[in-house]
Amino acid sequence: MEPSFDNHEAKALYEYVKTGAWLTEYTYTEKLEKKISSYVGSKFTSLLPNGTITLISALLALNIKPGDEILIPNLTMIASPNSAVILGIKPIFTDVDENNLCLDLNSASKRISKKTKALMYVSFNGRSGDMNVVKNFCKENNLYLIEDAAQSLGSKWNGKHLGTFGTLGSYSFSVPKIISTGQGGALVTSSKEIYNRIENIKDFGRIKSGVDIHTSMGWNFKFTDLQAIIGLEQFKKLKRRIKRKKEIYLRYFKNLKDTKQVKFIDTNLSQTAPWFIDIYIRERNKLMAYLEKKGIGTRIIYPAINTQKIYEEKFPSKNFPVSYEYSHRGLWLPSSVKLTNNQIDYICSEIINFYKSK
Ligand SMILES: *Cc1c(COP(=O)(O)O)cnc(C)c1O
Repeated sequence: MEPSFDNHEAKALYEYVKTGAWLTEYTYTEKLEKKISSYVGSKFTSLLPNGTITLISALLALNIKPGDEILIPNLTMIASPNSAVILGIKPIFTDVDENNLCLDLNSASKRISKKTKALMYVSFNGRSGDMNVVKNFCKENNLYLIEDAAQSLGSKWNGKHLGTFGTLGSYSFSVPKIISTGQGGALVTSSKEIYNRIENIKDFGRIKSGVDIHTSMGWNFKFTDLQAIIGLEQFKKLKRRIKRKKEIYLRYFKNLKDTKQVKFIDTNLSQTAPWFIDIYIRERNKLMAYLEKKGIGTRIIYPAINTQKIYEEKFPSKNFPVSYEYSHRGLWLPSSVKLTNNQIDYICSEIINFYKSK
């Protein structure tokens, strides 16, 4: 993955700075928020410093308290559980569904307690399970649904954007994500009340912008117009990038589909814009070393969260067979939107060569 900016961002930034603007969040941030709302089909959007602070703010806005519990998949980026831990909320890890590598509701239902207040659904690489079933599960169990859709801008389930099924949906604009503002994140919601709470939390709990009266707790989680300027330019490229991500995925898939050692997760490209190209294999280390010699960089998928040093003691491994298995087999292949078809074909031919020589 690599960021991709060009003259459009440079020119927009130059023009903006020349106006003597204040750089912090103001009208361009609002413009980008409106753009996101209308693109994903949500009523309200708040831009925040990154896709971790979005999750923390979501938990704060829903008034989830220290000692409460939240269900979180055991295969995700570390920000998902850490956003709960910083608030004293206990992450309860659940296994994932091998069809999509997202949270497995069967596993979740066994782990619900009286303290469980929410479920964080991570649409892993833009894929998801049946979101209506997820929604109903949360409703029946009286849980808030928070969608960590950091990897899913542009991906849908059944024609509706991921991130818009939950009480709150979170996106990230960090450098490797499909569009980037360097750092950045957004929360979307259809609730005016929750939106107001987030806007309040991100501006020191002020009763009104520019007034130093504080009736609730808040911090400084504001965005900047400087980033919004870049975000607005990046947004113009989103459609093309989604198309290219799908083409790249399909080309890898077609090239490798007869190599039986390489497993792909079922991916419906009419709905999913895969963020990374992910394959599941055996002999991962050997393949990585082989590809590296051929000048091809790869990256291992997230280790199962319960195997990370900071969590391993409290969560024994035997309870998570699917996340354990897939985290040990998963490999991310080069996935930049700048990849050419020739490069993809070269990468695939080397993967085929590796397994042929076995
Ligand atoms: C990228 C990512 C985050 C964190 O977003 P940042 O903007 O880097 O803080 C959280 N969750 C998932 C699933 C991610 O992929």
